[in-house]
Amino acid sequence: METISLKLELMKPTHAKEQIYCKMTELNTAFSNWLLQYDELSKATSKVYKLFSADKLPSAIVNQTIREVKSQKKNQKAKAFRRFWCTFNNQNLKVEKENGLYKLSFPTLEKRVGVPVVAELYQQHWLDKILSGEAKLGAGELYKKKGKWYMSVAVSFEPKVVSSSSKMMGVDVGLNYLAVASIGTNSLFFKGNEAAFIRRTFSSRRKTLGSNKLLSVIKASKDKESQWMKNLNHKISRQIVHFAAENGVRCIRMEDLTGIRRKAKSKKDAGRNLHSWAHYQLQQFIEYKAKMAGIQVEYVNPHHTSQTCKCGHVDKKNRKKHTFVCVKCQYKLHADANAAINISKAISGLSKKKNKQAA
Ligand SMILES: [Zn+2]
Repeated sequence: METISLKLELMKPTHAKEQIYCKMTELNTAFSNWLLQYDELSKATSKVYKLFSADKLPSAIVNQTIREVKSQKKNQKAKAFRRFWCTFNNQNLKVEKENGLYKLSFPTLEKRVGVPVVAELYQQHWLDKILSGEAKLGAGELYKKKGKWYMSVAVSFEPKVVSSSSKMMGVDVGLNYLAVASIGTNSLFFKGNEAAFIRRTFSSRRKTLGSNKLLSVIKASKDKESQWMKNLNHKISRQIVHFAAENGVRCIRMEDLTGIRRKAKSKKDAGRNLHSWAHYQLQQFIEYKAKMAGIQVEYVNPHHTSQTCKCGHVDKKNRKKHTFVCVKCQYKLHADANAAINISKAISGLSKKKNKQAA
């Protein structure tokens, strides 16, 4: 079973609904802190809620909160919760579809509500799978971020392989090009210029702030940068998987970059170290979107992928900046595309460790 999480934005709630969500969160937060101090927490059942308050809170939420506080207390000695969002298990959370509109239904203070969600295209795929029984809905958390309400839900599914073709796609991640995807010699390029520029701007801004020790501002800037990068990674991964699906690719291959500390011999390699989390995130997004589309994912050993020619000749001199020119046979093409092609062929073999994780 694979599990992914979807963050579903609730379509702008009415003032009344928003007040209900806030009230639920307040009650639940106070209850969680009360539980922390409760002597018999380990034996607590939903009945203890009556000892805490006469205000109504759905037993579905009460049960989840008790379970969660128990495990948190055991694991990390939580002293106080600043906020404890309401969570629902899969028996109390349902996905519905009405006139093309996706809805989530869950219990609130007053009654059960059916709330429309703003579902992105890839999220709609998942919601349809839940409705058809191909995927299972897990627990959900109701939370607010930057003025918007969301339900974050877990979705589990049995991965399947739909394509019986033998077509492979190789994806190379780098700095000059954030990603290059190749099917045979047909390549798709995603430029990194804009990303590099934005990240440099954020970084230099933080350097000025650093000397003034404005830590909260630095953190906000980092959050903003990672949100920006995340959106870009979602966009790129969507297009890559789309390209693969359109071309009947059976398997997407990427380099296993874990544990690699490349010496910065080139700008590209330096980039790989600097932006490793962004590359890792991009690979993860590609992986889960591929699986969603029934496309396999394999990780390959990254050695020599950028130095090897299709004639088999391996040489550092084969690479001249962004261009690959084989010193032996003069075969010439874009360096990252050549790497992506070599990745698709798994010239240095598959990575055993990483493929176990991905399976
Ligand atoms: Zn050659």
